[in-house]
Amino acid sequence: MSLAGFNAFEYRGDTLHCEGVSLAAVADAVGTPAFVYSRKAIEAAYKAYDAALDGVDHLICYSVKANSSIGILNVLARLGAGADIVSGGELFRWLKAGGDAGKVVFSGVGKTEAEMRTALEAGILAFNVESTEEIDVLDRVARAAGVKARVALRVNPDVDAQTHPYISTGLTQNKFGIAAAAARDAFRHAASLANLDVRGIDCHIGSQLTKTSPFADAIARLCDLILSLAGEGIMITDLDIGGGLGIDYGKEGDAPPPSHGEYGAAVKQAMAKLGSHPIRLLVEPGRSIVGPAGVLLARVLYNKDNEVKHFTIIDAAMNDLIRPSFYGSHHPMTPVKKSETAPRKTDVVGPICETGDFLARDRALPPLATGALLAIGAAGAYSFTMSSNYNTRPRAVEVLVSGDRYTVIRERETLEHLVRGERTAE
Ligand SMILES: *Cc1c(COP(=O)(O)O)cnc(C)c1O
Repeated sequence: MSLAGFNAFEYRGDTLHCEGVSLAAVADAVGTPAFVYSRKAIEAAYKAYDAALDGVDHLICYSVKANSSIGILNVLARLGAGADIVSGGELFRWLKAGGDAGKVVFSGVGKTEAEMRTALEAGILAFNVESTEEIDVLDRVARAAGVKARVALRVNPDVDAQTHPYISTGLTQNKFGIAAAAARDAFRHAASLANLDVRGIDCHIGSQLTKTSPFADAIARLCDLILSLAGEGIMITDLDIGGGLGIDYGKEGDAPPPSHGEYGAAVKQAMAKLGSHPIRLLVEPGRSIVGPAGVLLARVLYNKDNEVKHFTIIDAAMNDLIRPSFYGSHHPMTPVKKSETAPRKTDVVGPICETGDFLARDRALPPLATGALLAIGAAGAYSFTMSSNYNTRPRAVEVLVSGDRYTVIRERETLEHLVRGERTAE
């Protein structure tokens, strides 16, 4: 689990640490399941993007949905990051975390008028508009508010991101963006409206991309459109290429994702066709900023065998980390106490009453007795944010480590939190 040359999680002696903090000590203090994040790893990832895009005017808008905890958003806000949001709720969180409203881009196919009003009031940088109907609604909402809305149009460039179908977003069959063929007319129409200020073009082709070529293809298509729009007097000065850079989930045989440097070089090369056209680059990384920076700590409850399988039952479940059940994702796992015992294959499962409740299948792990701690890696992105209360399980505590200190950035939910607002009928 290494990131931008920085290893956030390493054994010191026989105990896994996050930076200078023992994960065994954290688990004893805050209980399990627990998400533990490395501040230094988040900062290193952000800085790696910044360095990779050196030489082009750029803004890094962290994709809030990857991990929207206020304590995490605050780390990014302090670094000067912007934010890519997909709901009014994410804007609320970003502002609570001390984030700059003027660096927010608002994506998503289903923005409500209320969300548009709130975002206009906050003074966000741009709406990434995803349909021709949304263009007209936003113009009307902006007129009623007496302001001009800054917009980018999200174009679906029809490129195959070569990733999991659920997280592929740049193909014609996906719901995202305005079809490439209709984009020119959409820009003309948007540019004709009095309460829209059309400055940008945007795309986001998918997540967990392990090659740079789909990014380059998408950028090339957007640049062609920028140049041809400039020919008819529509000046696009913001090029937003979305997020999507993959991370290493530690699966044997998987090709390693491109480094930030390789990504930056490919982006710059693809943008070169803009020549002297003035442009600012926006990127919206989520997973590659926070994914490798987090682990989910769990404790072993029971072991059991049958004729064909060994099961390791832990106190974390699919409600805490749904990626293995939902996408068939692989997460690296390692015992918190280093073990010299030979590994054997086991299914790592949670207490939830679903056969789909597994964190790993047929995983080679040393035997872990009741009470042993397991660290599930690469759990900083799309992990806590996708967690639920299924089976009336309180969501986990979250801890942010910095050096040899840590802060509980979110308390474990209580059962009272879970039933808040519920009542019986008369
Ligand atoms: C989810 C999302 C991102 C972030 O994607 P990652 O793969 O986490 O980098 C960026 N932009 C948009 C519009 C998204 O929906």
